[in-house]
Amino acid sequence: MRQKIVAGNWKMNKTLEEANILTSEIAGMVADEVKSDAKIIFCVPFPYLLPIKNQLGTNARIAIGAQNCSEHESGAYTGEVSAAMLKSVGIPYVILGHSERRQYFGEDGKLLAKKVDIALKHGLTPIFCCGEPLEVRESNGHETLVKKQVEESLFHLDADAIKKIVIAYEPVWAIGTGKTATAQQAQDMHAVIRKHLAAKYGQSVADSISILYGGSVNAANAKELFACPDVDGGLVGGASLKSREFTEVIKGA
Ligand code: PEP
Repeated sequence: MRQKIVAGNWKMNKTLEEANILTSEIAGMVADEVKSDAKIIFCVPFPYLLPIKNQLGTNARIAIGAQNCSEHESGAYTGEVSAAMLKSVGIPYVILGHSERRQYFGEDGKLLAKKVDIALKHGLTPIFCCGEPLEVRESNGHETLVKKQVEESLFHLDADAIKKIVIAYEPVWAIGTGKTATAQQAQDMHAVIRKHLAAKYGQSVADSISILYGGSVNAANAKELFACPDVDGGLVGGASLKSREFTEVIKGA
């Protein structure tokens, strides 16, 4: 059985005090109200990785992730954070290839392949993001583009390595826009991605990989999206910043 995962992407939001409050509110609501055994991940800004990890302590239901790491091992890369550093402070997950990093920081498939490799080398689980911009969806090129994104950054991995990846399909036109893909659109793309994985690695490997949907997931639409057979949870931006809203999203998994 694939693991259901609900990951919150806090992006560049919150002061530490606000982050502490959000964390304690969600942890409390999850303990009291959430019955599912979905894995919950808070992908927080770098300065909050350790404070929030320490705040959660032995809470086994909520893990911490970073939102990026360098493609380099170490050295003169001012301002960067390495996979080895994340590992050394006990961070298990890292988002790679978010569309905002592709768009604003020029990250492309080749670079992301390097980031995937170095994250895996240091024992981190990459949450690898893919997804098409609006004009590509409108010209019906979304399947081709997303398959290419997956190929470029992941298909050099062997079967054992790809099984360690979590994929997040995030149509760019749905991120932060309030415009969610329909459950059918999400299911269709997730099935395309899984079929592509199966063609390369075999069905059982493809069936073991969690594919999350991201793009304006909220309390009202999470349940329907997460009920799709190939949707194994979500990567959630805006709604992860509000404790009640995020808890309701988690309940949908
Ligand atoms: C995201 O940032 O990955 C995301 C899906 O954002 P939102 O939920 O706000 O659309």
